Amino acid sequence: MDAALADAPVTAQQVLRSVFGYADFRGQQQAIVEHVIEGGDALVLMPTGGGKSLCYQVPAIVRHARTLGVAVVVSPLIALMHDQVGALEELGVHAAFLNSTLDAAQARRVERELLAGRLVLLYAAPERVLTPRFLAMLDSLHERGRLSLFAIDEAHCVSQWGHDFREEYLGLSVLHERFAGVPRLALTATADAHTRADIQQRLQLQEAQRFVASFDRPNIRYTIVEKDDARQQLLRFIRDEHQGPHGRDSGIVYCQTRRKVEETTDWLGAQGIAALPYHAGLDAALRRRNQDRFLREEGLVMVATIAFGMGIDKPDVRFVAHLDLPKNIEGYYQETGRAGRDGLPADAWMAYGLADVVNQRRMIDEGEAEEDFKRLQRAKLDALLALAEAHDCRRMRLLAYFGEDPAPEAAGVRYGCGNCDNCLSPPATWDATEAARKALSCIYRFRQHSGIGFGAGHLIDVLRGKRTEKVMQRGHERLSTFGIGADHSEAQWRGVLRQLLAAGHVKTVGEYNTLELAESARAVLRGTMPVHLRLPAEPAPRGRRSARADGRAAGKPPPLSLDDAGLARFAALKAWRAEVARQHNLPAYIVFHDAALAEMARECPDSLQALGAIGGVGAKKLEAYGEQILRTLAQPQ
Ligand code: ADP
Ligand code: ZN
Repeated sequence: MDAALADAPVTAQQVLRSVFGYADFRGQQQAIVEHVIEGGDALVLMPTGGGKSLCYQVPAIVRHARTLGVAVVVSPLIALMHDQVGALEELGVHAAFLNSTLDAAQARRVERELLAGRLVLLYAAPERVLTPRFLAMLDSLHERGRLSLFAIDEAHCVSQWGHDFREEYLGLSVLHERFAGVPRLALTATADAHTRADIQQRLQLQEAQRFVASFDRPNIRYTIVEKDDARQQLLRFIRDEHQGPHGRDSGIVYCQTRRKVEETTDWLGAQGIAALPYHAGLDAALRRRNQDRFLREEGLVMVATIAFGMGIDKPDVRFVAHLDLPKNIEGYYQETGRAGRDGLPADAWMAYGLADVVNQRRMIDEGEAEEDFKRLQRAKLDALLALAEAHDCRRMRLLAYFGEDPAPEAAGVRYGCGNCDNCLSPPATWDATEAARKALSCIYRFRQHSGIGFGAGHLIDVLRGKRTEKVMQRGHERLSTFGIGADHSEAQWRGVLRQLLAAGHVKTVGEYNTLELAESARAVLRGTMPVHLRLPAEPAPRGRRSARADGRAAGKPPPLSLDDAGLARFAALKAWRAEVARQHNLPAYIVFHDAALAEMARECPDSLQALGAIGGVGAKKLEAYGEQILRTLAQPQ
């Protein structure tokens, strides 16, 4: 057995404290851990950052201490196994992985450790687990009572319903049939009911106890801004909110196309913001290198298509920005969910405009899918558009979409989360019923007059009474609707149109995206359906949050809340951590999270005992790094 476990902490609580350095379990962790230690099967549905790993790592350690058994963790994310094992070894827990990155001699060494009962956890990809050779090793362990549990991570991969389906996951039901009595946990952050049912059925977990956590991510602040000049808006957002005297935050910027990824990366670089591109068109080695750099270095911005992200467990991604609209709320939730896994404040920021609505609609229309599927895609897009157009709490809408009642205790009271743009500064609205009628009747006149439809730009020109070449050529200055909207700005008209499109009163057709009235436009035209629109945002965004040192508005925990001396200590600790991470060839957050360093900088402990009381400082790390940390803290900053 490993030295750090020589005293064999055998209760879950002891393991949590002495190995992980945490004082308390979170949410349902304790119930899950105890259930599995007692030999029960479990299905764990928890959002990203909820703390799923502990749910199998603690039982693995407790059960290993009793029987020398190994926990087999099935994961599709080969690229991450090295870091996960590194993190466990840092905690003094003996772990290993078996995957295609090992050569034959390395693999043999792991197998010997496994069969000798020395491993507490073994990570393996599903295709590896299903090989006859591996199953035979498991047989031999099973005969000796040395399989402590199976953890099936990213369990939604067994479902064809989601996007990450893996054929090999279907084979994992063999674990149940062949190794009866060994507890199994399936874990996923995918919430929808269909996927859930698939997991239970396909992994034969019908009898397993279900643990379903809330999918709320309270530390993520949701903001959706109207597109004006999206790149400039992004730049302002990064500079105002994620850049301080002590460096820039790590973040992800999602774009729809490869080309836009490349352009945005170059542009951010030219503005002095270190950015890396990631999309499926880049060669595999470069993708790998960029991903590694993003995980290991601080303050990098990854500009990516949705090809990037699955299994990125970097805890300190401080913002996820969308320059284009995702396909649906599931995508939005999953992508934004990569921010703030460490529980510290993080931003989900999106710029959204008229063209997004038009593009997404068109992509569905022109797609190859069956009509039934398209209808489903349209409905899902509509739900996302409603979220983007909402005047009320974004979080409440997100959670409601996933079937959660967001605030049962506040029944009857208008619920606001206090941590989304609409809660923080409720948008002003204007009665756009008249304007909407004008726009709709102008679209109607186009057809009547010219026999064809026209696009948004031309419509706005006509409404505002601009005598452009096209207007004159078509004789549209003679339309009764010419100039009837001169009292509104172009931005206001774009807003009116976007919201008419989002609400489905207007649709776009053909390669020129010409505007046509939908059936529901009648009610608006007749004036029986009022339209209330958000006032276009002021060009200047809300004030600089200067969050780094002062804490954020709305009573949310400030990220660090350090005074100047504390910030200097924090910087010194980060420099020390970077050096250790480099020596161990591990990402810095595996040595210590930002949250742990910040607490050290704030509390400034002056003894090993006081240092050990800081969250995230377990026995092994205290022994390995305690003296160095105390020295770093004691140095004059
Ligand atoms: P998930 O896999 O669900 O996305 P992780 O297992 O990576 O989440 O945990 C997210 C973060 O929360 C990690 O940094 C982890 O160390 C931390 N964490 C988990 N459980 C606790 C706890 N009980 N106390 C303090 N921190 C925790
Ligand atoms: Zn809110």
